This record gives sequence, C-alpha cells and structure tokens, in this order.
Amino acid sequence: MLSLAHLRALPKIELHCHLEGAMRSETLWEFYSRYGGSRFKTFNEFKAACTVEKGTAPGFIPFLDKFNTLRFCFGNEANVERVAAEAVEDAAADGVTYLELRFSPVSFARRLVQGDGAYAQVSVEQAEVAAEAVVSGARSAAVKRGIRVEFIATCARHFGFETNKPALDLLDRPIGAAFCGLDLAGDESHCAEIFMHAFRDWKLAGKKITIHAGEDPNGPGAANVIEACERLNADRIGHGVRAIEDAGVIAELARSGVTLEMCPTSNLQTRAVANVEHHPIKKLLDARVNVTINTDDPRVCGTTLSEEYALAAERMGLSFDDLKRCALNAARAAFLSEDERNSLCTQIEPAWNCATLIPTIEAKS
Ligand SMILES: [Zn+2]
Repeated sequence: MLSLAHLRALPKIELHCHLEGAMRSETLWEFYSRYGGSRFKTFNEFKAACTVEKGTAPGFIPFLDKFNTLRFCFGNEANVERVAAEAVEDAAADGVTYLELRFSPVSFARRLVQGDGAYAQVSVEQAEVAAEAVVSGARSAAVKRGIRVEFIATCARHFGFETNKPALDLLDRPIGAAFCGLDLAGDESHCAEIFMHAFRDWKLAGKKITIHAGEDPNGPGAANVIEACERLNADRIGHGVRAIEDAGVIAELARSGVTLEMCPTSNLQTRAVANVEHHPIKKLLDARVNVTINTDDPRVCGTTLSEEYALAAERMGLSFDDLKRCALNAARAAFLSEDERNSLCTQIEPAWNCATLIPTIEAKS
C-alpha cells in the first residue's frame, strides 16, 4: 500500500465535509476568547470539548454535542470568511482538488448574532449574509490554491423545519446559485417527513440532494437509507453504514447507483460501527455499491482525507484498486454537470494510474 505521503500527493475529491467540523481549533479559540464566553478557561479545555480524542468513540449524541461547543459568536463576517478559507487551505494541502463544502447557513447566521445567539431564530437575510461570507472566503482560498470548491446547504433534522427554513429560502436569492446541493443532517431519530416538500422543490430546481442516513447507531438504520432514496430523492447518502444490515437495501443501492459518502473515522467515533474491522466499506464496494471516502469533520474527528484513505486500506481491507475506485466514484458523483464530472475523472485518473507503479511500502493482503 502507498505511504501517507503518497496518498497526500494524489489528487482527491471530497464530497462530504462539514465546514462546522473543519474549522481550526486555534482560530476558534481566538474567536471564543474574544466573543464566545467564559465556560472554557484554557485552549486545551476548549479543544477537548469540541474535538474527539484520538482513539476514542464517544457515540452519536456525544459526537453531535461537540458541535454545540462550536455554537458561539464569531464577531463578524470576516471571521466567517476566515474559517471557510482555512478549511479550503487545509483540504488543498492534503491533495484535495475538488471540494464540496457543506454548511448550515442558519448555524453560521447564528454565529453572527451578538450575545447569546447560538439558538436564535434567524431571518433569510441573516442566513444570506452568513452564506455569502462562507462562499467568499472559501472561493478566495480555492483560487489561491488552484482547487475548485462548491457548496451544499445543510439542514439539521433535530432543529425542526421553521429553524431551517431560512436556509431553504436561500434558493430564491442570488446566493442560491452558489449551492449545488442540499443536505439533511443530524439526529436520525427526528423524522424527515417535514422536509420532504422543500427537498422536492430543490430537486425540481435542478439541485442535487444528499441525506445523512443509516449513520445513527440508535436510529432506524437501513430503513432510513431507503427513505432517503425513495422519499427524499437522494442522489447520495451521507454514511449509509447501516445499509449493510439489509441485503435488499444493498441490492437497491447497487442497482440505482446512489452513492454512499462514507467517513470511516467518524463512523467509528459515532459508533455507527462497533470497531474498525466491522466497517462495511469493503463489503459494499464488493457488492458494486458506489462508495466514496470522506472526512465528515476533519478537525472535530482529527483526520484528513488522505488519512481516511490510509485507514480504509490498512484496517478495512481495501486494495489500492479499491481506493482508486472510491476516488473515481467521487468524481462521478460530484454535484456537477456530466461534462464536468467526466472532466474531474480525466483530471485525477492519470495520477492514480501512475501511483500503482510507485514501490509499495507494505502489502498487508
Ligand atoms: Zn456528515
């Protein structure tokens, strides 16, 4: 298998990365110290509350709680631009050449509300200001680093429809053109039914849909994967780990070509899988499901896309050809036009083909 350095050098595509989980802790601490509050006295305390300790698996709800720590005032739009720019810079440094960065416009709008705005109801105008800041910061960094970034708007199931509505209403604003897709994330015990009309409208407007499903170890599992495909018109599924529990669901994913955005480290930390050897990524690949490898939340999880590829190879049984398949699956499942997706494949494939010629440092198979 290739070394981590070789994996970093290979051009990669990241389809599932939340800006909320990709912000540098050091930068966040700077904002927190200035605007955030007094709960945490030291950087180490703060970092422990908003990141998962290496090698630990806190479970799904404690994992989501990490993001509650990150709900504080950032002070101004320039700071939102900065975290977005840094997330893109970090991805580029790891060899990501095409990034679909997802974020909740509502959550970032709340971070611009002075005082205790962490759970404030925001307006579509406030969501627009926040989204413009994210897009501006991310695009500037992408241009500087010579990579491409696109955006997905995330709604959180557990915040209900009204809270998320400003993010959905963005489609009717000029900033709506910046989004290639819509995402539903969060606690899967909350029903997705209330979002169905809005997601249908986005689909009718030509946007793509990705739904977090089959991730929550205590949620409905494979049934949610089917619900996402059939009732929410998902083009891709975030995680989909628990599809493995139902042979019919696996067959349907393979037949339909719906892509799974798998995030190995995150899946371990949320306990979507009991342990690393039980991750279903290899079985799903072998069942001809379009699997991709992603970070989910690189800073919260303490990982990079290259490290996720390495983990999949070293601990989950993926061969180099499997990794290459995942990389090309990601190019083919990007929320772009067919021509642009073909172009992405053409851009990354030669480097992956050449990589097979690099002497391997180990062969665990
Ligand atoms: Zn996610």
